[in-house]
Amino acid sequence: MAETTDETQLLQNFLMNTESERLASFKDWPFNEDCGCVPAKMAAAGFYHCPTDRESDVVRCFMCGKELDGWEPSDDPWEEHKKHSNKCPFLNAKPESEETLSEFLKTERDRQEQRIVRAVELKIKEFLDQAARTKEEMSNLKG
Ligand SMILES: [Zn+2]
Repeated sequence: MAETTDETQLLQNFLMNTESERLASFKDWPFNEDCGCVPAKMAAAGFYHCPTDRESDVVRCFMCGKELDGWEPSDDPWEEHKKHSNKCPFLNAKPESEETLSEFLKTERDRQEQRIVRAVELKIKEFLDQAARTKEEMSNLKG
């Protein structure tokens, strides 16, 4: 189970904040028969489809960014979400249809805050990695 944190992913998450957008991502989803992880249930549980060359059934939560693959027809997307990312704010949010506009905006604000924090953390890490590499190169020059 891989967890990637690049800016493409953060942008994708940003675009998947409605259930209908997420549902539309499940075009080539392998489970469409009557089972636990059909597209409608996956989208309702916060997931959108982001297949890779190696894994055709990778999904990602638009809120916490958790990626899951290896789905079985008997899997319940809500249960899997809870099991693998129990602090995700989406799990305690109201269903989209019952949410008021101000609740939606609050969730959205929290989500964007999280997104910015993660983007900044990523930049800091890149900077520190670069600084470490430069330092090493410089000490090689001296030696
Ligand atoms: Zn989540």
